[in-house]
Amino acid sequence: MTEELFSVETTYFADVILPVPIPRMFTYRVPRHFVNDIKTGARVIVEFGKNRVVTAVVGKIHTKPPEKYQAKYILELLDIDPLVTSSQLWLFEWIADYYMCSIGEVMNVAVPSGLKVSSQSRIQLNPDFDYPELLDAKEKDFLETLKTHTSLTYDDALKFVGEKNINPMIKSLISKHAIIMYEEVKEKYKPKIAKKVRLKRVYEGSEEVLNLVDSLTKSAKQQMVIMEYLKHIPIHDLSVRNTDGVDKSLFKEGETSDSALNTLINKGILEQFEVTVSRFGDDIPTEPLKIELTDAQQTASDAILKNFQEKDIVLLHGITGSGKTEIYIDLIQKVLEGGSQVLYLLPEIALTTQIVVRLKRVFGDKMGVYHSKFSDNERVEVWRGIIDGRYQFVVGVRSAIFLPMDNLGLVIIDEEHETSYKQFDPAPRYHARDVGIMLGLKQGAKILLGSATPSVESYYQAQTGKYGFVELHQRYGEAQLPDIMLVDLKAERKSKNMKNDFSSVLYNGIQNNLSNHEQTIIFQNRRGYSPYLNCQECGWVSECQQCAVSLTFHMQSKELRCHYCGHKEEVPRVCPVCGSGKIRTVGFGTEKLEDDLKIMFPEARVQRMDLDTTRTKNAYQNIIAEFEQGGTDILVGTQMISKGLDFDHVSLVGIFDADRMIHFPDFRASERAFQMLTQVSGRAGRRAKRGTVLIQTNNTEQTILQKVVVNDYAGFYQEEISERESYLYPPFARLISITIKHEEAEKAEKAAHWLANKLLEKLGKARVLGPEKALIERIRNKFLFDILIKLEKDKLNIKAAKAFLRETITELHQTKEHKEVDAVVDVDPV
Ligand code: ADP
Ligand code: ZN
Ligand code: ZN
Repeated sequence: MTEELFSVETTYFADVILPVPIPRMFTYRVPRHFVNDIKTGARVIVEFGKNRVVTAVVGKIHTKPPEKYQAKYILELLDIDPLVTSSQLWLFEWIADYYMCSIGEVMNVAVPSGLKVSSQSRIQLNPDFDYPELLDAKEKDFLETLKTHTSLTYDDALKFVGEKNINPMIKSLISKHAIIMYEEVKEKYKPKIAKKVRLKRVYEGSEEVLNLVDSLTKSAKQQMVIMEYLKHIPIHDLSVRNTDGVDKSLFKEGETSDSALNTLINKGILEQFEVTVSRFGDDIPTEPLKIELTDAQQTASDAILKNFQEKDIVLLHGITGSGKTEIYIDLIQKVLEGGSQVLYLLPEIALTTQIVVRLKRVFGDKMGVYHSKFSDNERVEVWRGIIDGRYQFVVGVRSAIFLPMDNLGLVIIDEEHETSYKQFDPAPRYHARDVGIMLGLKQGAKILLGSATPSVESYYQAQTGKYGFVELHQRYGEAQLPDIMLVDLKAERKSKNMKNDFSSVLYNGIQNNLSNHEQTIIFQNRRGYSPYLNCQECGWVSECQQCAVSLTFHMQSKELRCHYCGHKEEVPRVCPVCGSGKIRTVGFGTEKLEDDLKIMFPEARVQRMDLDTTRTKNAYQNIIAEFEQGGTDILVGTQMISKGLDFDHVSLVGIFDADRMIHFPDFRASERAFQMLTQVSGRAGRRAKRGTVLIQTNNTEQTILQKVVVNDYAGFYQEEISERESYLYPPFARLISITIKHEEAEKAEKAAHWLANKLLEKLGKARVLGPEKALIERIRNKFLFDILIKLEKDKLNIKAAKAFLRETITELHQTKEHKEVDAVVDVDPV
């Protein structure tokens, strides 16, 4: 056909989202044979840059050719039914705009990599090549290998040649036109396959199968296999259930032998087949759970529904152990019955088996779980399960906001105050609570925020009437809030009562608990043995070479480790500066407390839960299970133990280092300290017996501590909100932080000053703070300078301010002197 013929018809273009940090979409031409099938939200494969093939998502289809370049064709269309819904596309754009990043960066974290297609270079013989005289011996050898294979991957080629670098040879072969390189594109997602066996159809009748058993009398082992099979699929059911067969692995466990099974298959009596199964299929079926709300819970639940009649967002302030989960379950059931979807967000660490098992017992396999420890294949199955309508309800961590739910009736954000809802790195630096709210609002869903210690921002919205507000001030059952006491470390030291870092009060409490067979939790929000080593002769301190922080001493692995860049080194025997052997540890982390406890209470079973002990997939669950079952007397841990865990027999919680939390140089320090102390305390006394919490401090007069002791959230809030108002911090202002990074301190500082000056020209002095050296002024060999922008909520057009900020950063990068620095923008930093 000629060009002429085509030109009367319309040419279609697609703007696609590519996984790159460039804040726009890219236009490609839609090949004629895809025109009828392509839709927005479908995945396509396109060429990007030179010889790079990537998966992209169609954002828009139109007829307008790009002005500045000739659009390339889309190479492949992967989905007939779009994988990304239009409401997701809307959300991705909103996130990119609000958090000042590219939509490609959003797409990159949103779509599980199992849904992205990988491309791999393959090498193939050029069928038209016939000049072997051009080749050297090595190349000839390689070509011989190629002849016996249709094609080879680069890695395979390496193996065959047996050399470290085959690039020169490959280049030479390409230039001689002996081989062809091409990109093979393949789906990464692999369905889970189960191997099964069943009887051949001719044996399906009861008479036939009995004859078969008879005929096998001489081969007892084969007979046993058939008998085993009939145990699972009884004779009278054969004709119905034989089609589904049984798992081949079933025969491995019994007394039947593998070889007998294979013989039967070879003889054509049994047949093998494969089926695709769900990765979530083998969850243990548990007894269904029926929830009956207590009166207080029922009142709260009713109040939430009443609030929802007028407001889209409701904050539930329910103390620890009040049974917020039960209220959620009640509401979820109602919404699901109405035919809408529900999304239930939990912070990473709170999403334990404890809660999943409880929810599974109510919702069964209607419920999907989305967790960061899931494999990519598992994520893809949840994603597809939502699109197929299998999961109406998903419980998940922050990235669950990216799932393709588009008929939401309710979004629950539990522990809404949790900072782990915020993604720090890489972009998009989004806050899942705030995105969850947007997502819900857009779909006309109701949004329920829950916490025992709400964030100041959310509480403010509830106080000013923007959010509905419901309180629950009673623990479930007979449980009472624990008795919280402050332990005066100064007095303890004075009277020489300290045992290591334990006050006598805490020491006796633990001793007591052990004799009563009750459990203790020890909280110290710092891992490792001690935060640094110090030479007593010359004052040397162990420091990271790449970061401006001390190296933490880890006893178990006998290492010094940087908690910022991961650098590790051996522990020096003598001081590297003066050679003295007098090196001591300073301060203490969870490892040291664990160690001390084991020495002080040799009969106690002590466990530790922190990042170092929970790296493997099930370690976290195992430690919790062990503690739940009473196999542990004392659990030492970091903030990991503060979140959403529910134990029956903890009657004592000991808290170290409260002072460090309170005095951290950040405007949110009080809020964090209050939340952390209250949450950790909340692990105590969840059943009939009232628990005790001991907080060790050098200053018992601190107001925050006083408020924690009497569980006075409202009082804490009053003080905090007035401070925030006078110093213009959230919720009265929006913050945007910009961090400028460079290997040379001077370059980073100069660029930061340039940027800050440009910004304050337009925004005014009061709105631009800094630049200042970052709290940790060097990380991974880069020097960091912070600029903080404060934008009052009602007086300023924040959208316009962000646009200006974008432009100014672009300008910075176009300035010759500053173009090498990184500028990291964080909207609403926490
Ligand atoms: P919160 O999340 O508010 O701290 P949870 O939802 O974890 O509280 O509830 C605390 C404990 O009380 C859990 O073990 C839970 O099973 C139990 N519980 C709360 N309400 C009920 C109820 N209505 N029926 C049965 N058990 C309940
Ligand atoms: Zn020294
Ligand atoms: Zn470091």
